[in-house]
Amino acid sequence: MIPFNIPPYVGKEEEYIKEAIASKKICGDGAFTKKCNAFLEEYTGTTKALLTTSCTHATEMAAILADIQPGDEVIMPSYTFVSTADAFVLRGAKAVFVDIRPDTMNIDENLIEDAITEKTKAIVPVHYAGVSCEMDKIMEIAKCHNLLVIEDAAQGVDSKYKGKSLGTMGDYGCFSFHETKNLSMGEGGALLIRDQKNVERAEIVREKGTNRAKFFRGQIDKYTWVDAGSSYLPSELNAAYLYAQLENIHEIQNNRMNSWNYYYELLSPLAQQGKIELPVIPEGCEHNAHMFYIKAKDLEERTALSAFLKENDITASFHYIPLHSAPAGEKFGRFHGEDVYTTKESERLLRMPMYYGLKKDEIEFVCEKVKEFYAV
Ligand SMILES: *Cc1c(COP(=O)(O)O)cnc(C)c1O
Repeated sequence: MIPFNIPPYVGKEEEYIKEAIASKKICGDGAFTKKCNAFLEEYTGTTKALLTTSCTHATEMAAILADIQPGDEVIMPSYTFVSTADAFVLRGAKAVFVDIRPDTMNIDENLIEDAITEKTKAIVPVHYAGVSCEMDKIMEIAKCHNLLVIEDAAQGVDSKYKGKSLGTMGDYGCFSFHETKNLSMGEGGALLIRDQKNVERAEIVREKGTNRAKFFRGQIDKYTWVDAGSSYLPSELNAAYLYAQLENIHEIQNNRMNSWNYYYELLSPLAQQGKIELPVIPEGCEHNAHMFYIKAKDLEERTALSAFLKENDITASFHYIPLHSAPAGEKFGRFHGEDVYTTKESERLLRMPMYYGLKKDEIEFVCEKVKEFYAV
């Protein structure tokens, strides 16, 4: 059987978790969390990175830091994970969904401006499959209309746009280290903060609204409740697992990239015959091999292909049901403009097995079966 995902494991995780236990500090913000934060800052070039309990929570933090209020509007694609919208809906905002581009499945940057109203506070680009949105255009629109940009870079760790790391261009960037992502800590994530002026409040919001971070640095002699906040610190046990992965980021990423390229090579003939479509990586984007998807003709063909692969013990997986068509999406959001591609393209997309350690002959087997399906 070829599963869809196996959580990444490099071998040093247990040693580091034991180290965390031996240090007698297993709550948040111990040595491993600090090392992870520093690694992410250095690696991405962001001003400040803070590990969080999830990407969902990093996005919630960003919504708090952005002072999102009831009635505000936040622009995002409908083709995304629920967390992108939930974080803002929890603050009383309305999710305003904009159509995607069929080539990358990312928000269509040319449709954003038309969705802006006087209530709009932020734009939330989602970098689907670790392929960047058109950030130059998005940042230009945000600047022109005085909006914040919060990047949902859950899938975009180690991806770049014109040389810049995803998650570092917007005011805030949100990473995920869920077990389904390239690098993992079980459940977890990180908030990237671009501007120094927002760092202190981010530390406060993350520490239950207290200035404890400042206290631990010896900058104040007692800590107190200074703002509204919550508990967004992961345990050191999770951070220890992640640190082992960060140390091996190149190994993990090279392995995934080889798999991605091999899929692409083996399935290219089918794409040339016009039977399927393969992912598009626009110029200026360096992706991270987070996902390998193909597009079938339509929903019916995808369903049949998925079932055929399942019969052959291969788990392929469809992805998001567009949020605007979900019950909560109808309640908390609205689709601005016409849904030309969101529903249609989402129904065609099927994700192939992809994980660190996926074997060459497994990829060959998957591609053989896809070809067999289309041979009839
Ligand atoms: C995985 C994912 C999330 C949620 O990440 P968690 O760490 O599980 O909260 C949010 N947005 C997108 C686009 C994702 O792929």
